[in-house]
Amino acid sequence: MRIAYDFHIHTALSPCGDGDMTPNNIVNMATLKGLDVIAITDHNTCGNAEACMKCAEGGELLVLPGMEVETAEECHIVCLFPNLKSAREMEEKVRDALPKIRNRTDIFGEQVYLDENDEIIGYEENMLVTATSLSVDKVSSLARSFGGVAIPAHIDKSSYSVISNLGIIDDAWGFTTVEIKDLSKEKSLQENNGTDRFRVIHSSDAHYLWDISEREYFLDVESLTPEAIINTLLR
Ligand SMILES: [Zn+2]
Ligand SMILES: [Zn+2]
Repeated sequence: MRIAYDFHIHTALSPCGDGDMTPNNIVNMATLKGLDVIAITDHNTCGNAEACMKCAEGGELLVLPGMEVETAEECHIVCLFPNLKSAREMEEKVRDALPKIRNRTDIFGEQVYLDENDEIIGYEENMLVTATSLSVDKVSSLARSFGGVAIPAHIDKSSYSVISNLGIIDDAWGFTTVEIKDLSKEKSLQENNGTDRFRVIHSSDAHYLWDISEREYFLDVESLTPEAIINTLLR
């Protein structure tokens, strides 16, 4: 079956994520846009994923827990997981590898934990948007070890991407899928970086509600389940 996806969405827990990026708003917007599956991918945390998943319960939309890990090389890697348990196992490793720096709310904004009713249940005080001490290949292998998939994020961007920072995507890192933000750059990435050996996906990297993808990007999967989606992205 062919499903419409957006695998890269931030909530208000990302300091750069808009305050309106609440579980209900995200789920309602994604549903309104006709998406079949979304992933919640805050910076170095999956703390608001459960609330978003609970919000979507009983509806048509599937919500995957995930996170956008910043590696030691300052590369962003979107990691998607089949369930909360796996995502939290990864989060534990990421949290241990994150420097203990207090978030400057005056500069970066609040990092807000929300429940499934969009009620604020707390604030993350440790700065989330910073590099962990995990290398690119470590993030890739950790995500796979917890049953997930790791996807180099926005590889066409001039910063925080594997290609901008390291120049290559080494086969040894074990990636099968890459994310390109601006698909008009796909051809030059193929020519210069051999990205045609990977599955290419396009996600929104939404920090605001209106950024969430339209029903425009599709993936062929055996079924609309987290396992089938991750298996496809791993192939
Ligand atoms: Zn990013
Ligand atoms: Zn992002």
